[in-house]
Amino acid sequence: MSESNTLTVPRPMVHAESVRKAFGSHEVLKGIDLTVQPREVVCLIGPSGSGKTTLLRCMNRLEKFDSGRICVDGDYVGYRLRDDGRLQEVAESAICKQRSSIGMVFQRFNLFPHMTALENIVKGPVGVLGRNRKEVTAEARTLLERVGLADKADAYPNSLSGGQQQRVAIARALCMRPKLMLFDEPTSALDPELVGEVLEVIHALADDGVTMVIVTHEIGFARDVADQVVFMDGGVVVERGTPEEILEHPQHVRTQRFLASVL
Ligand code: ADP
Repeated sequence: MSESNTLTVPRPMVHAESVRKAFGSHEVLKGIDLTVQPREVVCLIGPSGSGKTTLLRCMNRLEKFDSGRICVDGDYVGYRLRDDGRLQEVAESAICKQRSSIGMVFQRFNLFPHMTALENIVKGPVGVLGRNRKEVTAEARTLLERVGLADKADAYPNSLSGGQQQRVAIARALCMRPKLMLFDEPTSALDPELVGEVLEVIHALADDGVTMVIVTHEIGFARDVADQVVFMDGGVVVERGTPEEILEHPQHVRTQRFLASVL
């Protein structure tokens, strides 16, 4: 067989189609489509309440969506494809397994207060994935170095600044060796002087080719780091494109208004 016959089209890391979600009678996602390619960085921007966090949470099934489908690396989130081609909902244990391959970093760092930075990072890979503690500990130390905290391995969260805690949270998520990283406004709970150090770490991950979806209010950061910027408002994607297209030359008046209000 010639080489050209064996080439396959790379599948997207995330493929979301017509995703709808309501809380009671309030429809928060009104048919969202989103595709994220491997190694791509996508920034979700938009006014508060537009559905960005809910969409992110649907991607790892922290939130159950009402209709549509989301595939992460070819797996239907929350479902499996039956032999007859229909989708069947999977059990919570299977969802947990899917979730373990998707890293999530929240606004609040959610570190275990009674564990050191190193113990926080090691817990998941050993406890959830059953990996060798010694090997994981060595990897965790390398990750602490990567986020600039090599000297904080034995520190407890309450002795760390918010920026340092968030960097530990990023190292913790990375130690699960995720195929996708989701960030939900990772700097919005930080004092302004600590925002830069966290954005720097995320920037370095982007340079290393980590696939990421980032909800952010930091428009300058989105401009620097994103391959694709998606502007959401009122539960729909209003427009998407390169940072230059969306942030410098927005086509829709809703995008223009939003940017004028935040820049
Ligand atoms: P964004 O991230 O763009 O600020 P969210 O996804 O957080 O938007 O929220 C979208 C809307 O959904 C908001 O009006 C919010 O109040 C509502 N919402 C989010 N989570 C819940 C929930 N668990 N129960 C009820 N309403 C919710």
